[in-house]
Formats: sequence, C-alpha cells, structure tokens
Amino acid sequence: MTAIQYLKGVGPKKAELLGRLGLETVEDLLFYFPRKWEDRRLGAKPENLPFIEKVSVLKGRIVLVKDLYTSGRLRIFKTILDTGAVRAEVSWFRRHSPRFDVFGLLRKDLKEGAEVWVVGEPEDPLFKTRLRGEEYYLDGDASAKLNHIARLVPVYPLTAGLSAKLMREISRKALQERGGAVGDFLPAGLLSKRGLFDRVSALRALHFPENGFQLTTARKRFIYEELFLMALAWALKRRQTLRVLKGFGYEVKKHLLTPFKERLGFEFTNDQKRAINAIFADMRAPSPMARLLEGDVGSGKTVVALSALLLAVENGGQGVFLAPTEILAEQHYLTFHKFLDGLKVNFALLTSSVRPKEKKKIIERLAAGEIDILIGTHAALEEGVKFKNLRLTVIDEQHRFGVRQRAALRLKGDKADMLVMTATPIPRTLFLALYGDLDLSVLKEMPPGRQPVKTELADEFRAFEAVREELLKGRQAYIVYPVIEEDGARGLKSVKEEFARLKGIFKNVDMLHGRMPSELKKKVMDDFVSGKSKVLVATQVIEVGIDVPNATVMVINNAENYGLASLHQLRGRVGRGKHGGRCLLVTGQAVTEDGGRRLDALRSSSSGFELSEKDIYMRGAGDILGLRQHGDMDFKIADLSRDSGLLEAAIADREELLRADPDLRAPQNAGLRRKLIELYGKKWSLIDLS
Ligand code: ADP
Ligand code: MG
Repeated sequence: MTAIQYLKGVGPKKAELLGRLGLETVEDLLFYFPRKWEDRRLGAKPENLPFIEKVSVLKGRIVLVKDLYTSGRLRIFKTILDTGAVRAEVSWFRRHSPRFDVFGLLRKDLKEGAEVWVVGEPEDPLFKTRLRGEEYYLDGDASAKLNHIARLVPVYPLTAGLSAKLMREISRKALQERGGAVGDFLPAGLLSKRGLFDRVSALRALHFPENGFQLTTARKRFIYEELFLMALAWALKRRQTLRVLKGFGYEVKKHLLTPFKERLGFEFTNDQKRAINAIFADMRAPSPMARLLEGDVGSGKTVVALSALLLAVENGGQGVFLAPTEILAEQHYLTFHKFLDGLKVNFALLTSSVRPKEKKKIIERLAAGEIDILIGTHAALEEGVKFKNLRLTVIDEQHRFGVRQRAALRLKGDKADMLVMTATPIPRTLFLALYGDLDLSVLKEMPPGRQPVKTELADEFRAFEAVREELLKGRQAYIVYPVIEEDGARGLKSVKEEFARLKGIFKNVDMLHGRMPSELKKKVMDDFVSGKSKVLVATQVIEVGIDVPNATVMVINNAENYGLASLHQLRGRVGRGKHGGRCLLVTGQAVTEDGGRRLDALRSSSSGFELSEKDIYMRGAGDILGLRQHGDMDFKIADLSRDSGLLEAAIADREELLRADPDLRAPQNAGLRRKLIELYGKKWSLIDLS
C-alpha cells in the first residue's frame, strides 16, 4: 500500500482532498471506479451504451478572440474556431473579479492562430456550433491525448476543489505506477470459461477504455468478481453454520403445543403444516436452524413462528420474537395474549418506550429465565439484554432489517436456532446468492375464506364513498398519506393536515404516524383494534404486520409515490377477515411512467410472488430487499437487478468450484482464498478459512 500523497503530482494538499473521497492509498485510487464515461472522440459512431455519454468536442484553429463585458458581473470570452468544416463559436464565462484578470490564462492560451481542442456544452441543442466552453487543450499536449480528448474519458465522482481533469491525470498516474501490480485472484480457468479480462487488463480498460466493447468487457469482469466473491462467501458461511453443534436436544412434548392448537379456532393450512414440520425437524437437528419463511401478506406466518417458540419453551428454552417497528411489536404482543393466555408461558414486551423501571424488571427476569418469550424491537435488544437460555430467535419482516443486523443477532446466540420471516418473496437466483445461508419454507396457500382485495384507481371522492359504504356496514378503514407534515415542494398530502380535514368528514377518526410518542401510538392502535375508532389516518407505519380483520378498506393517497412492495404490503392490511377488502389508489397530479406501471402491476396481481418479480425490474433489487438503505450490498459496480445473468453464472461457478475444492486448498485457488479472508473473514467471522 502506497500513501496517495507520494503519487507524483499529488502532494499533501491534494491528498487531503482525495481523503474526503475516502481515497488514502494509490490502491484506493485504482479501485475508485468511474461513474460514467464521456465519448470525446471526433466523429466516432455513438456506442449506445447507457454508461457512455457523447459530448461535444471540436478541434480547430482560433480565428477570432473577443473579450466582452455584459451588464452584470458576468464576463464572456468569445472565440471563433475554424474546424475546417465549420466555424464554431465557443464562449467562456467567468464572474468578474476586481482583484485579478479572470481570463488571464485563456488569453495566453487561446490566441488567434492557436490549434486547440475544445470540450463544451452546446448552447442550443440544435446548433452544435455554438458551445459554452468547459475544457480546452492545446494541440500537441501529450497528456491531453492520453487522458482528456479524442478518446473515451472516465468521469469520477468529485469533491469541491478537485477538478475532473486532475482526477483523470492522477488516475492515469496511479495506473502507470501500480496498475500492473494488482494481481488476480480469479482462477485462470474461470477467466477463460467466462471470457473475462484478467484483473490488470480489466483495470486499465475500465479507467481508459479504447472503445465501448473493451469497456463492457472490463465492467463485466468486475461485476462478475463482486458477485462471485459474495456468492462464495455466503456458501462458506452456510457451511460453517452447519458445522456448529447446538449441544442440546428437543422433544415435541405437546403440553403447550396441543392446547395452543386447540384454542386457535382454525386449522393450519397445508403449507403452514409443512413449514412447521420443517422447522421442528431443523430444531431437533444437531446444528442450528437457519430458515427463511416466505409467505405473502396474510398467509399466517405468525402462528407458525408461535409454534416454533412454544417448542423451544416446552424444552425449557427461551425465545425472542423481533419486529422492525414498535407498533408491530405491540401488535404481536396482543396476538400472543390472544393465543397464549391461560397457557403456562410467560412472555413480555420490550421496546424503547417501556419505562426504565419496568424494563429493568424484564431484563432481570429474562436473565433469571423467568420470561420464556420476549417480544420486542431490535433497538430494545441492544441495551444489555441477556438471556438465561436463548434457544430460538424469530425475526419478523426480515426485509426491514439488514443482513448485517441478522449477522449480529446470530452472534448474540450463535448456537440458537433462527427463523426469519418475510412477506417480500425473493426470486430464486437472488435467494441463492443473498440468502445462501438459509433454508427456505414458503406459504403459498392463504387461509381459507380469504377473498382477493379489489384494487382500483379512484379519485378522492370515490375513495371516500367507499370508506363510507364500509363504515355503514360496521367495518373500519385506513387512509394513508405519504408524509407527516405538509411538504409543499413535492405537492404531497400530509397526515396532519388531512387528519384535521377528515375529522369533519367521518366520525371516530384517529391518527397514527411514526413521530408520535410511543404511549400515544399504543393507545391509538389499541382503540383501532378494539373498534373504538373507525378510521385510521396514517403514514406508511402501518405497512407491516398490522392485523385488524374488521378493517376492509384501504385508501392510499399519492399512491404513485410508493414502491410496489410497499403498496402490496399496505393493501395487505385489508381483506384479512371474512369480509373481503377494497384498496383504492388515489394519485397526485404528476404520475411518472414508472409510478403508473407500478399501479398497473398492483391492480393486475394480488400475489406478492408475482409482484416481486416485477419489482425487481422496476426498482432494483437493493430496494426491494431493503438492502440498499442498510448498505449491506455496497457493490461498487454490480447491480443485482441488471446483472442477474452474471449472477447465475457466478452461482453455477461457485457450486462447481466448491465441489472440486471444498476448502479452497488447491494452489490455483490460493489467491481467491486470501481475498475472501480479507473481505469477509472478520466481517462474517468466516473461521473455516483461516
Ligand atoms: P402474515 O403472514 O402476514 O404475518 P398473520 O400471521 O398476521 O399473517 O395472519 C393473518 C391472519 O390470518 C391472522 O389473523 C391469523 O390469526 C389468521 N390465520 C393464520 N393462519 C390461519 C389459518 N390457518 N386459518 C385461518 N386464519 C388464519
Ligand atoms: Mg406478519
């Protein structure tokens, strides 16, 4: 590793600026990838690649120079350029300064008769012969030809004080000095099988490609590299989990499970039975369970989780049930009361709004093993909560948690079984890549008697009519707005404002949003669950898990603003009982093409499985999985939604590699092994490799 300031032409001051971009060493610079590339070739055919942008470049002789003042403080330096084919007018703008000559340098370089290259912005898209000058280079400047003109030119993310031009120059310097030393770690066999550049060539071609094909090939190499390493790390992590021994056994004793089943008031669906059997088999196996339970909104995941928790408790263990929001944790707490009251099970709710005294008591009782099941949010768990005998962790709506949080939980009770649940199904390839460390159960079948929710576009008047109709039948309604406070700039309606208005339109209206005190949130929720309030005006906080079967109508305002997964989740709040449900989508004025497509998709399908396939393409996988916001998938260049073909290739190659060399001991895999340790060894405690 060479500190960046020792690179020729950098020095301490520029090194500090580069530090702001997170660039400390020359190696960092090598792997600081361009954001896009500009095509500055004269007369080249457009490449038609999304990451290459054609810009205006002229080469010619300066035939006239005019130095002009305008009325304000703006000064213009005008040059006429004879390119041989046309005469072009290039204007350079600067703010006037009383202290120095803002055009000093230009006047020196851009003299009449000078041969120059100019890069600029057309002042009018129709007349490419009138440019606002941005960069110029004197013909014969060797560095210019190498880095800045007559080629594809990299565009890097910048920071104030660091010019694009300088960035290109030091990037080139870094390549010249250290680019040959980056070494490869992908086995040569893979490179030829997949037609990939070796790492050194790929790096050169990525920064300064000769043409679009070379650039595409270089990108492909790095995309594949990222996906392959990640896929491999998941597989190794998975294998490691399987090697841990729990050191305790389970028996299905039924003294809790049987009465629980009896008081449910319904039969498990076949899918639920299958999932429960798989979970019980996992729990009785010698190594810890790591299972994902995927089931559409309303498919009945909670009672499956409850069954697993009861098995742990029957065997003298403790369980924890985690929800992403306080509101949902409280809901679950009520559900537990509904199904478990009267059984010999102690459970408690711990969220950040539980009072300190109460909290202290819960923590003590947990440590003493007096509480069997803890329900809470992730936040509540972080503050020194210790279990006496934690056997099972259930994570609800796992897409709202990050992969990293999941890993952290795993460490907390690394021998405990883990069940994660999500209503956002994941396509098979992605599942294999991202959740390669999990087994999968799916609830496809809905509990009997459910009717699909009727989904329609409506204006507010129609939507409120629908609400009124349902209220008359004794049902309840949700009306959702995108923001809490008014947001004039984006023209979005707000919960607070609309609540004030709706109180005059409906009776028994209440309001719920994330910034209310927890006590109040709880009261509002309780009132809605008990039916005391009839209309709940809310933000997206109600998106996950809330279960009020008597609520039959959902109005989503500014519906074009939500992602498809969120819309489907919101819609899933209704149609949970025997009464069916209606979902009315009210749009704002400006619906983008994407927004319109999401609403069409939502209306055309009631299956989360179908929608998630679509969403992947519409929104990008990072968002749908809730990964991007957590920074778990900080890929430099790969994009899971775009690169699914390469991902599939990477997974197939991973399988083949691990079959042939399970511990990466073969000499040709030594580099790969070192790279994996460097990237994931600590972060994921991949002890097997070291
Ligand atoms: P989700 O999978 O979205 O978390 P829930 O677990 O909240 O769904 O279940 C939705 C509703 O369906 C709850 O009221 C639950 O009690 C009920 N439910 C679950 N399983 C069944 C079943 N087999 N038959 C009838 N109702 C069920
Ligand atoms: Mg749920």
